[in-house]
Amino acid sequence: MKYKITGFKRSFGIIFTAVLAVTAGSVVYWQQVTQRLAVEARQSIVIVSRELAENFERLLGAELQVLTALSVSLEEPDVLKSKPQLITYLNRQNRRNSFEMTGVQFPNGEAVFSNGLTRKNFLSKDEVDTAYEHSHYVSSRRKDPFSQKNILVLAIPLRSNGEKLGLVFATQSVEFYEQALAASSMHGEGLSFILTKTGEVVISYPEVPFGNMFEFSQKAVFDRNLSNAQMKNDIASGKEGLTGYSVDGLHRFVSYRPLAYNGWYGLSVLPTQSMAEKAQELLLMSLILCLSIIAVLVVLLIFILRMQYQSSKALYQMGFVDPLTKTDNLNAFRLKFSKTAEDFKAKGVPVALALVNVNRFKAVNDIYGFEQGDQILKQVAEALQGGLEEGELFCRSGADVFLLLVACPNRDELGRRLDALLDRAGRFCRTEGECLPLSLTCGVYLIDEDVPFYLMMDRANLAWASAKQHAGKTCAFYDEAYRREIVNEKRIESSMEQAMLNGEFQLYLQPKCDFKTGITRSAEALVRWEHPEKGLIPPDSFIPVFERNGFVLKLDLFILEESLRLLKRWLEEEKPVVSIGVNFSRLHLEDPSFIDTLTDMADQYAVPHSLLEIELTESVVFGNIERMKQVIDGLHEKGFSVAMDDFGSGYSSLNVLKNLYFDCIKLDKEFLARGEGNPRMRQVISGAVKMIKGLGSSIVAEGVETREQADFLNRIGCDMAQGYLFSRPLPVAEFEKRLQDEIQK
Ligand code: C2E
Ligand code: CA
Ligand code: CA
Repeated sequence: MKYKITGFKRSFGIIFTAVLAVTAGSVVYWQQVTQRLAVEARQSIVIVSRELAENFERLLGAELQVLTALSVSLEEPDVLKSKPQLITYLNRQNRRNSFEMTGVQFPNGEAVFSNGLTRKNFLSKDEVDTAYEHSHYVSSRRKDPFSQKNILVLAIPLRSNGEKLGLVFATQSVEFYEQALAASSMHGEGLSFILTKTGEVVISYPEVPFGNMFEFSQKAVFDRNLSNAQMKNDIASGKEGLTGYSVDGLHRFVSYRPLAYNGWYGLSVLPTQSMAEKAQELLLMSLILCLSIIAVLVVLLIFILRMQYQSSKALYQMGFVDPLTKTDNLNAFRLKFSKTAEDFKAKGVPVALALVNVNRFKAVNDIYGFEQGDQILKQVAEALQGGLEEGELFCRSGADVFLLLVACPNRDELGRRLDALLDRAGRFCRTEGECLPLSLTCGVYLIDEDVPFYLMMDRANLAWASAKQHAGKTCAFYDEAYRREIVNEKRIESSMEQAMLNGEFQLYLQPKCDFKTGITRSAEALVRWEHPEKGLIPPDSFIPVFERNGFVLKLDLFILEESLRLLKRWLEEEKPVVSIGVNFSRLHLEDPSFIDTLTDMADQYAVPHSLLEIELTESVVFGNIERMKQVIDGLHEKGFSVAMDDFGSGYSSLNVLKNLYFDCIKLDKEFLARGEGNPRMRQVISGAVKMIKGLGSSIVAEGVETREQADFLNRIGCDMAQGYLFSRPLPVAEFEKRLQDEIQK
């Protein structure tokens, strides 16, 4: 079974595209943000290195200023002249500043420290010269002569009236500077260096295990267009710069700028990752959030689509699948119908619509129950569907009705194929092994016209109805003449009740006459429909319809009543009276109160029962001999006479007569007509008449039209003649006049 749910595929397409778009968007976003972060990282490293340089310069500047102030305070007083005084002074000053120690180095090279100790040439001659030359001096890293700590030495020249009195110096621990650099180390994630021009590490924060930056960075892999040499060059030539390199797979930005002291450089190193990390973390989180939302949406969408799919499936099942047989239902059949018919047409193969119905399925249900009935329908459906050929269609259109759209290259061939198929489908098995026959009837409309589907159904249905009317026929094809007949039948049916109310049905009487004298001995009541538009309608065109719909029961009783009313009047008016034969359809025999009804009505009109003759047709007799015997005996009991109508129209008539007693046998007019110019047939007729006479019944010959016929029938022993030779069926008034005339003759 196929459920074509295009929305489902489309929705998946949309989801897929959306996910793709979001992913692509995320990648681009990621790249953009990463690039932007890199730019920002570069900018911030430049800022950091500038801060580093400025802070360090400020710090050194401030320290040199403190030292300058100290030198000024020493220039005039005599403190310099007394060593103990100097030491006391220095000591006192030292407590006010942040230096490790302060001191004075005299031109003779003796350095006096605030701790009271002295050293010879603590600052070298070069250092002293540099200090005089630049008015200040900052040393490289060196060891404190007393504590062996790493220190820097700052010095300011001492002068008095242009005379060089020596240098005021101070020592500051490297650790102190390291702490100062910590402020520019980006919370400990970066590295801050103060380097000499040759890359010697003067101060670093945090401490590093190498002494020369350039040696260290030799191992690094520099970014494109950059190199260790370039950095070295830059620093040698006093340029500031920005570079990036990777060490041990970790990328770092490096920014360097010259300081105002000793040609030193401030250099900051920041791991790119750590800079970008937080931003990237945020980015990652927002991406994860995005993806989670997408995931939730996708799950939601899938859930909705699943529901949609399931409800579509359920709807499809409801709309297009027959719940019992699980085959197509009428809707599905209709949908596929045109396309399938066209496909066959394109191949030049005519197609037919066949409607199959299980006969008397209600009885099957009554006998076996609904559950078993359903099983049978399933088996029938299975068998019918199994008999389809390539491209043909099948459905259960309702209850016990099935439709087939079949190829019909040849009408006879299709007829045979369907007969065989219906035969197979009709063999249903109630239990394993026990198979019972079921009869199916089929109406076929050979699609020869482009008419709407419902009309095709109607036509197949009409064909089915015609098949149904012909006992023993499984399949009938639709034809136009039959359709007209049916339409006419419908028209008759729709107007019959009103016609009865309007008094359009009228009683005619046809005399049954004496052969020789032609005198009326009795009469037959025959109905006529005097239609206001169509005129007089003969009973042959409506009695069969009424037989089918049961209205004949009403009509027969109406004619009976008219006859009784007439007889009553004749008796009351003391007019000549003859008995009247009234026709009764076989349907009355199924009514157990038939005889009572007749008796009651005759008594109601006070008509002697002997004046009524009940005409029953031969076919009735043949149908159910037991019931017939019951009825005939009952009628005789009540004093009615009984006639067998249309004798000779069937073939087992003689046999029937052995078991049943009729007061009168009416020879069918066709039976007599067959004797015309046929001596052998005449022999048969005369034999039959003899036999009937032998059984004690009187004989009426119907349809006597010629003198010659009359002579023959009279000769062989018939008692009365009913035929145009003597009289046509007459309206009541005319019939009465005829009786009157006969008396006067
Ligand atoms: P039926 O009972 O065999 O009636 C005799 C039919 O033969 C009548 O046709 C009558 O007009 C016709 N007939 C009589 N003489 C001749 C003749 O010389 N030549 C020819 N060709 N026909 C002759 P009608 O009146 O058309 O009735 C036809 C059939 O309709 C009747 O056949 C009967 O079976 C049925 N019918 C008529 N009236 C009633 C009725 O009230 N109730 C029932 N159940 N059936 C009726
Ligand atoms: Ca009759
Ligand atoms: Ca007859």
